[in-house]
Amino acid sequence: MKHGVNSHTLESVDLLNSPAEIKDSIRSLYQLALEAEQLLIGNEQLAKELQRLSENYQRLEQLAQAGTWRIGQDNRIAFVNKRMAEMLGYSPDQMLGKNLLGFMAAETRKKVIDDLDCGKQGITRQGEFCFKHKNGSDVYTLMEIDPVFEDNSEHTASYGLVLDITERKKAEQALQEVDNLRRSERLKTELVSNISHELRAPLASIKGFTTALLQHGIKWNKKTQHDFIQTIDQETDRLTRLVSDLLDMSRLEAGVLSLEKDDYQISEILDSVSKMLTNLTEHHQLQVVLPSGLPSVFVDQMRIGQILINLVENAVKYSKKGSQITIEAQPADDKIIVSVADRGKGIPCELLDRVFDRFYQVESAVPGQRNGTGLGLFICRGIIEAHSGEIGVKSKVGKGSKFSFSLPVSKS
Ligand code: ADP
Repeated sequence: MKHGVNSHTLESVDLLNSPAEIKDSIRSLYQLALEAEQLLIGNEQLAKELQRLSENYQRLEQLAQAGTWRIGQDNRIAFVNKRMAEMLGYSPDQMLGKNLLGFMAAETRKKVIDDLDCGKQGITRQGEFCFKHKNGSDVYTLMEIDPVFEDNSEHTASYGLVLDITERKKAEQALQEVDNLRRSERLKTELVSNISHELRAPLASIKGFTTALLQHGIKWNKKTQHDFIQTIDQETDRLTRLVSDLLDMSRLEAGVLSLEKDDYQISEILDSVSKMLTNLTEHHQLQVVLPSGLPSVFVDQMRIGQILINLVENAVKYSKKGSQITIEAQPADDKIIVSVADRGKGIPCELLDRVFDRFYQVESAVPGQRNGTGLGLFICRGIIEAHSGEIGVKSKVGKGSKFSFSLPVSKS
């Protein structure tokens, strides 16, 4: 290579004296720079070529491990390689002539049918698909489905290239399980700390006012005494409510909430809680809209009454005195939809899903004071789901909220 000449020139630079020699030497250096540049360009091309070769090699290596199949228009297997058959625990002969979809997990079939249809329009599809091993286990794969056209026009078959990614998938699932366990541990810790906080607050208040009343040497006037006792009374109610909510919550979570279901008219359920509803809405206008001829529902009357009270209580808490609250029931297929609507402050739409979470409170009805448990809607949802129904909310900030739930119509 020219390399020898240039290194000689370089070694001689130190010994140069005359301007002619310096000129010569600069020329040589210039030449060297040019050659170096050429060499670099060559290397760059070489590096690109190497990269391309290594990518091709990787693809070939993948192909060697890949399963392949070919199916006709009727989805029957016309060809399957040994790797593909091994992946599913069969020999190629055992798979030939069978419907490819029969080797796939049920939840994957629709996607394959869609992708095969896309193939008919000349589109190649790639994605994750689950096959079923002969022993019943899941085989997760990355699969490419290519259409085959005869004479460049008619779609005659489809061709699949399949890579087994079961090990990777299992590792991902194991990681997900660890993540879920960590999450559930964190939730448990949060729950215990929430419960302790909720119990401690009313207890501290009861203890404080009782101690004040019992203090030697202080004579409280009648009005103060009455105020103290009233607060103790309210806090005791709050504690009782909290304990009963907590019991309901743990019954729901353990799946042991027992329901005493029977056939009831919605009007009967409303009657059973009418006194409480009237008391709750004494400063609001309560409107009840019940179309005549509504079918009866098969429910636990006491529990549905509890939900109505809860929703109306919230409607009262989060809307202005004098505003309207509407309870309505409407038939829908084999269900009845019951709703409680208010014209109150509403709930921001990004928080609508969260209001049914355990202990979740958007903000207290009375600023700076927690006057609920954040368990009400969580329990409502649990009770409705135990009746195979659904509960949801529509709301607009500043306009109001409408909570609706569905109940199953009686069979007879
Ligand atoms: P709470 O005991 O706090 O009322 P809930 O589970 O019944 O607990 O309600 C959860 C949160 O949903 C409440 O704290 C409140 O922020 C919001 N919320 C419930 N009902 C309404 C409503 N009718 N209007 C506005 N916000 C509501």
